[in-house]
Amino acid sequence: MTPLAPDARVVVIGTGQGGFQVAASLRQEGFAGPVTLIGEEPGLPYQRPPLSKAYMADGEAERLLLKPAGFYDRSALTLVEARATGIDRETRVVQTEGGAAHPYDHLVLATGARAFRPPVPGLDADEVVELRTLADAALLRDRLARTRHAIVVGGGFIGLEFAAMARAAGVAVTVLETAPRLMARALSPAMSDWFLAAHRAMGTEVLLGACVEAVENGRGVRLTDGRMVAGDLVLAATGVRPNAELAAAAGLTVENGVVVDGRLLTSDPAISALGDCAAFPLPEGGRVRLESVQAAVDHARHIARRLAKGEEADYAAVPWFWSDQGKHKLQIAGLGTGAEEVVALPQAEGQAVVLLFRAGRLAAVETVNAVPQHMAARKLIGAPQALLEAAGYDLKDALKTGAA
Ligand SMILES: Cc1cc2nc3c(=O)[nH]c(=O)nc-3n(C[C@H](O)[C@H](O)[C@H](O)COP(=O)(O)OP(=O)(O)OC[C@H]3O[C@@H](n4cnc5c(N)ncnc54)[C@H](O)[C@@H]3O)c2cc1C
Repeated sequence: MTPLAPDARVVVIGTGQGGFQVAASLRQEGFAGPVTLIGEEPGLPYQRPPLSKAYMADGEAERLLLKPAGFYDRSALTLVEARATGIDRETRVVQTEGGAAHPYDHLVLATGARAFRPPVPGLDADEVVELRTLADAALLRDRLARTRHAIVVGGGFIGLEFAAMARAAGVAVTVLETAPRLMARALSPAMSDWFLAAHRAMGTEVLLGACVEAVENGRGVRLTDGRMVAGDLVLAATGVRPNAELAAAAGLTVENGVVVDGRLLTSDPAISALGDCAAFPLPEGGRVRLESVQAAVDHARHIARRLAKGEEADYAAVPWFWSDQGKHKLQIAGLGTGAEEVVALPQAEGQAVVLLFRAGRLAAVETVNAVPQHMAARKLIGAPQALLEAAGYDLKDALKTGAA
């Protein structure tokens, strides 16, 4: 692929993890043309993961910044604080609110995702909080200081990370999860069980199979089985939706996110997409949209190499994700969907290692508080199960045998 001309104009919509990274990586790869970052959130680009973790405890917004203000000046990156309202693909121009026009030679969509609230009466009320942006987190932190009993609707990563922080702050917490297990979309049943026990040990009340009928302002949450859960703070941690409307309105292919090919190009070769808003093909087949820092950062680097250097390769990084819930560090490498066999390896108290196999090969590994085991298993993703079996599931031995 031909790299961009040295004076080509790159515009990035979205100044989150991926938008920031693509701009920074373009400069690292030696691209010297004009780069404009358009973002609707106030202030400098920041990291979201600490919002449900350290920030809940310390409230230090400065620490979240991906880079200080001087970085953008030094790197000649132009930040525009505005919402992008349209893309004219014919003339290659992005419009922002207020009527400004930003011409591009290449456009990168890094619009991320937004919190989603299912249509449950009262769940859309202003009193119900969500946790996606720094503004959400500041509000939630402020409310938490005056809360006696927090109700978390949704037993996914963000809800559970918040639950652990709220418990550490001495607040009573009830987590309501419709599914029969926690983090069911992303974790093996064995790991869901492990975290259920861990959260209960933190003193969190976890109700599984709990369907919310209505949020009753000031009182709490009513379940479909008639139970009333009393609480003075309700957090809707009910998943996200990709911000793909701008792309759809511009006529790009959208299906659970902006559809891209292996090079992370949309159906328009002048437009790439990355991170939480992009649905990309997996090397083993199928298409996925991942909500993780690793995907956003690695997508961004991949796009920057293509634009700056003309590199052709398809994106093939192994997915990786972490979640800190209280003192428990969960790490996941690979994708466990469709796993036919799950092997939980015996570990010391407070640790867990689960291997997931698909089509006779290691598809994913989930670990808790087990960094060395995680690092070893990660290198074995794609290895035949027979290799691990022959090593008695000793990961280091399997690595040695595999390398030999
Ligand atoms: C509370 C929380 C905790 C998390 N914890 C973890 C974790 O532990 N580990 C992990 O791997 N991941 C975690 N994540 C997920 C991770 O933060 C995201 O996957 C990552 O931020 C995705 O980067 P992105 O650039 O695709 O999108 P985002 O970071 O969401 O950035 C998108 C930006 O685009 C802006 N935007 C959208 N539309 C427009 C428009 N029309 N005009 C201008 N701007 C626009 C948005 O306002 C936003 O600022 C967490 C997320 C949250 C919210």
